[in-house]
Amino acid sequence: MVSEDTVFPPPPQASTVTVDETPSRVQLIAWTFVSAEVYDKLDHQDDPTNVGYMDADILAEYAGRTCYQSWSKPNPETATNAGYLRNVIDHQHFSVLEHASATFLITGVSRSLLAELSRHRHLSLSVESQRYVPQDEGEPVIPPLLRKYPAITDVLICAHKASIGDYEEIITALMARQADGDKLTKKEIREAARSVLLNSQPVSMVVTGNLRAWREVLTKRYHIAADAEIRELAGELLTILRRVAPNSFSDFPNQPFGNDTIRRSA
Ligand SMILES: Cc1cc2nc3c(=O)[nH]c(=O)nc-3n(C[C@H](O)[C@H](O)[C@H](O)COP(=O)(O)OP(=O)(O)OC[C@H]3O[C@@H](n4cnc5c(N)ncnc54)[C@H](O)[C@@H]3O)c2cc1C
Repeated sequence: MVSEDTVFPPPPQASTVTVDETPSRVQLIAWTFVSAEVYDKLDHQDDPTNVGYMDADILAEYAGRTCYQSWSKPNPETATNAGYLRNVIDHQHFSVLEHASATFLITGVSRSLLAELSRHRHLSLSVESQRYVPQDEGEPVIPPLLRKYPAITDVLICAHKASIGDYEEIITALMARQADGDKLTKKEIREAARSVLLNSQPVSMVVTGNLRAWREVLTKRYHIAADAEIRELAGELLTILRRVAPNSFSDFPNQPFGNDTIRRSA
């Protein structure tokens, strides 16, 4: 229990990460801050590579140094935050990356992407409900491959329109039964009607992961073998995660993992 005498740490340092101003399908909405004491303890002020450390990286180093109480930095290779975390990653001491987290609002992705993302058991998801939220608005999510083929994309757009039409037809028919006296709730009606919706139905969600969990996701989904839509999403996530914690993601390639890049554990 927090007593009245508890001394709280001072407010966090201003982070150089800002929330995205332009709406996009991936928006960073929360991330970890650390107290000034953590920075003071690590004392990186004279580090020439310190061009504005990120709190998430700093927290991982602080956690790692706590393990061995290794606050002095005799080895120049691990004296910087970048060097320290490179060593952590090389030695697969990934648990220190579990302390910091990043939360994203993800919108306009498909239900099939949701099925894949939700397989990652260390992520926390809050997902738009098809039982509570009417599904009769919005465009289908176009798979990346189809963007090259407008005529084939039209097939999907027609199928989507048809599915929304069927959805509305079921809702209207069930509401008529409700009006006739059948005991049906809106939620029951929507949950039955959603069964005609397509995999391309768009969905919104808030997703939180610690840095290790995000590394797991990226290792598998930022890969040429992954589904194209989630691979694109993984690329967007990686770009933002590199702003939150550049040194914790420094070993990731700039292109998806594939034949010429080594896929490593996270
Ligand atoms: C290219 C591709 C194709 C796929 N195809 C299919 C498919 O056809 N069918 C299908 O069902 N799935 C498929 N998947 C999903 C895949 O099987 C995994 O469910 C998904 O990638 C999550 O990975 P994960 O289980 O390793 O990791 P996460 O759930 O992200 O967990 C991370 C790591 O934690 C450890 N861990 C987590 N839970 C446990 C546990 N219970 N016991 C022991 N260790 C644990 C493991 O080391 C694991 O790698 C595919 C994935 C990819 C990338």
